[in-house]
Amino acid sequence: MVQRKVNYRLYPTAAQLSALEHQRWVHCLLWNEALAERRRAWGERRESLGYSAQCKRLTEWRRQSKLLRSLNAQSEQVTLKRLDRAFQHFFRRVKNGEKPGFPRFKSLHRFKGWGYKAHGDGWRLLTHERMRHGALYLAGVGKVPIRGQPRTPGTPKTCEVLYKNGRWYASVTLDCEPEREGGPRMGGLDWGVETLATIASPEGTETIPNPRPLQRTLAQLRRAQKSVSRKEAAAQRASGKQRGFPVSNRLARAYREVRRLHEKVARQRKDCLHQTTAALVGRYGALAVEDLNIKAMTAHGGKRKRGLNRHILDAAGGAFHQMLRYKAEEAGAWAMEAPTRDLKPSQTCHACGRQAKKPLSQRHHACPCGASCSRDANAAKVLLSWLERQLAGREPAEAWRAISPEHSCVDPARPVKRETPPIAGTA
Ligand SMILES: [Zn+2]
Repeated sequence: MVQRKVNYRLYPTAAQLSALEHQRWVHCLLWNEALAERRRAWGERRESLGYSAQCKRLTEWRRQSKLLRSLNAQSEQVTLKRLDRAFQHFFRRVKNGEKPGFPRFKSLHRFKGWGYKAHGDGWRLLTHERMRHGALYLAGVGKVPIRGQPRTPGTPKTCEVLYKNGRWYASVTLDCEPEREGGPRMGGLDWGVETLATIASPEGTETIPNPRPLQRTLAQLRRAQKSVSRKEAAAQRASGKQRGFPVSNRLARAYREVRRLHEKVARQRKDCLHQTTAALVGRYGALAVEDLNIKAMTAHGGKRKRGLNRHILDAAGGAFHQMLRYKAEEAGAWAMEAPTRDLKPSQTCHACGRQAKKPLSQRHHACPCGASCSRDANAAKVLLSWLERQLAGREPAEAWRAISPEHSCVDPARPVKRETPPIAGTA
C-alpha cells in the first residue's frame, strides 16, 4: 500500500466561491488567533502551548464563536496542526543552530488554504470511473464540480483545499495499490537540460528529447520575460527609479502572462516526467542515476542553466528522481543513486576511466584512449558501469536483495533524504 496525491481543479459557482472565500478567511483568522495565543502564553507565563492544548482551547472558542462553529471542526484542527508543525520546524532549526524564521501572522493574501482529516468528515469525493472528474462535496459550500484524475485510483484519505493565483484546487491523498511491473534491462541515466535524459544500457544508448509542447511553452516564456524586462526598463527610465516605479496596466498584464506560462511549464514538465519515468521503469529493472543534491546541481549546473528558468529545471531534476524512485519501488525495480562526487560521471572517460575536467560548454567527449561520444552519453555509460560493478553479474532484483535486506530503493551506502522539492505548483 502506498500513498499518492491527486490534484483536482475546482469549478465553483459564484455562491460556492464566496463560501470558499469565507472559509479561507475564517481559517486565516484561526491561524493568527492561535499563533497570538501561543505568543501570549510564552510571553506572560513562559508556557509553551502544544497542539493538544490548543485543540482544547478550540473547543471553547467554538462554543463562543459563531464564525468558528460554521466550519468543520476537524478542518480547524488541521489548521492548528499546521501551526504546530511550523513551530516544530522552528524549534528544530534553533536546535541545529540554523537561522530560524519564527512562525508568522498571515494576511489573507499569504494564506493558501486548509485541510481535512478523514474522508466523509466535512468533505466527500464524488467522482466517475477511475476517479476521473466529478464533484467534491465540502460542508458549508456544497457540491463543487471538479476536473482531474489520479494515475492510480485508490481510497481517499485526506484532502487539502488550496487557493492559488485566482484558482481553487483540491489535493487529495489516496491509499492505493500500485499497478506496475519493472522491465528486465539495466541502464545508466544522465539527467539533462537540453535533452531530458540519456540512457546507456548494454544494448546501446538512447536519448529522450524534451517534449515539443514543452519546448513551445519555454519559447513563449522566454518571449514573455523579454517583454517584461523591456517594459520594466521603460518604466524605470520614465520614473527615474530602479525600484518602486509605477506599474502600468500593460506591465501588470505582462507579469500575469509570465506567471501563467511558468505554471504551464511546470505542469507540462511534470506530466512529461510522469510519462517518462513510467516508461523507463517499464523497460529497466535497474537504473543508476546521479545523486542529485540541489547544491551540487547549481554548482555544476553553472552558466548553462543560469538565467533561463533555472529553478524550474532544478526542481524538475529533483522531481524526476523522486518519481523514478517511487515508481521503481512500486514495480520492484531499482533506481540506485551513484555517489556523484566520487564517480564524477561527466569528468570521467567511460572506456578507460581517465579523469579530465570538461567545461560545461564542451558537449562532446573525446579521450586520448580513442573513446568518442556525446558528453551526456559518456556520463550515462559511466553510471552504467558503476551499476554493473554494484550488481556484479547478478539479476538486478536478486542483486539488490543481496545488497539491501530491506525493500529500499536508494544506495544503502549513501542514504538519501526523501524530501525532494516538488515542482512549483504541485504537491
Ligand atoms: Zn578514455
